[in-house]
Amino acid sequence: MDKYDLLSDKASCFMNPNQIDENLEKALKLSKDSLYIKDIITKAYDKKGLSPIEATALLLNQDENVTSSILDIAQKLKQEFYGNRIVLFAPLYLSNYCINSCTYCPYHIDNKTMPRKKMSQEEIIKEVIALQDMGHKRLALELGEDPVHNPIEYVLESIDTIYGIRHKSGVIRRVNVNIAATTIENYKKLHDAKIGTYILFQETYNKKNYEQLHPKGPKSDYAYHTEAMDRAIKGGLEDVGLGVLFGLHNYAYEFMGLLMHADHLEKTYKAGPHTISVPRLKPASTIDISSFKNALPDDIFLKIIALLRISVPYTGLIISTRETSQIRTKALELGISQISGGSKTSVGGYSSKIEPDNAQFEISDNRTLDEIVYWLMENNHIPSFCTSCYGNNRQGVEFMDLCKSQQIAKFCTPNAILTLKEYLDNYASPKTKQKGEAFLKKELAKLNIIKQKEIENRISIQKNTNEVKFF
Ligand code: SF4
Ligand code: SF4
Repeated sequence: MDKYDLLSDKASCFMNPNQIDENLEKALKLSKDSLYIKDIITKAYDKKGLSPIEATALLLNQDENVTSSILDIAQKLKQEFYGNRIVLFAPLYLSNYCINSCTYCPYHIDNKTMPRKKMSQEEIIKEVIALQDMGHKRLALELGEDPVHNPIEYVLESIDTIYGIRHKSGVIRRVNVNIAATTIENYKKLHDAKIGTYILFQETYNKKNYEQLHPKGPKSDYAYHTEAMDRAIKGGLEDVGLGVLFGLHNYAYEFMGLLMHADHLEKTYKAGPHTISVPRLKPASTIDISSFKNALPDDIFLKIIALLRISVPYTGLIISTRETSQIRTKALELGISQISGGSKTSVGGYSSKIEPDNAQFEISDNRTLDEIVYWLMENNHIPSFCTSCYGNNRQGVEFMDLCKSQQIAKFCTPNAILTLKEYLDNYASPKTKQKGEAFLKKELAKLNIIKQKEIENRISIQKNTNEVKFF
């Protein structure tokens, strides 16, 4: 078996199973050492992040006082690094054809009861207009893996179509892409198509379990899947998004794997993951989730979010509508910086009157985007439709440096104010608009007078040109 090597691009080295086991053993032992835990808590307050072993030791520690310190530090770091903005996006499912066999997903190839659908470019236009009418500016494209139905050319053509749609005040400014692991050549093509972040969930870092959960199809190759981010970065995609599907394997193992993966990217390419998503296994058509024995309880889930915020303060954390509004409310306090809203997980779900019977999983937060915007403001978060960093070359290493030096919030907050104003003027219900105008005044008043004037100027330009002048 290969040896552990953090800087190698081979999964058998940077995600070496023996090393994961060894790290977990160390973390478990250290979790019972109160002096060590005290030192790590002090280190966490320094905002420089934690190593995978340090963070997992905190995760495995059972002391309630330690947990409340972790939650407290996470809240502070969230504010200091990102301010109180929460970025909004929506998933857009283009096709549910898939040749893989993931046992937890109803799109798997052997599910003959799943109606298969791939959208034409005309249908994509309808979906995107529906999303634009809601006020969305940032999408995450979702497709199954199928070289016949969903070749890279289809993905590229769809991205081009989406960027080209102009409807009333609508424009999609950023398309993130979640497609199966692919070649460096294809990643180069996605880079040239100007995508935002390339997202690929690992599902589980445990190789043996991974191989059981993916018995056939191209995704069954653990190494090829795990090395995807290395290829994506070599293909020029500077921003990559990690995630595991919590519930497939022991949570401490997944947490360790996730942080080791982040550490590998950070040390090898000088830029860690741009985002980490924290999906939990959810009920889905024909999938019996009671057969999965690693369900993650809410309190541990929230502790994991807080520990991710502390361990990789420079990484955006994403929570989707898989979670209830109650869990999302708590998660936002602990470090989540990006959420989906008004989402559909079906192909063609935004533009049809009755949602098609082809959803990937059940949604727990079914509120409209307008309701989400209202709720965020009620909880003192600025709903943000900002996409400014992509257009201003603040990506990859440059973005990380700004984030690590706590400089990013000075862009995030004013841009959140500008885009919330854009939303209120063009899309909000009267109730949300009324609340939003008062909320904006309050948020503006928190800034220094020069910044206030600058933002007010940009808002008046924005009103005339219908274009946001980002910072
Ligand atoms: Fe296909 Fe993705 Fe579902 Fe697996 S998780 S069956 S790759 S759509
Ligand atoms: Fe995201 Fe950059 Fe906008 Fe901040 S300024 S919300 S990091 S795109």
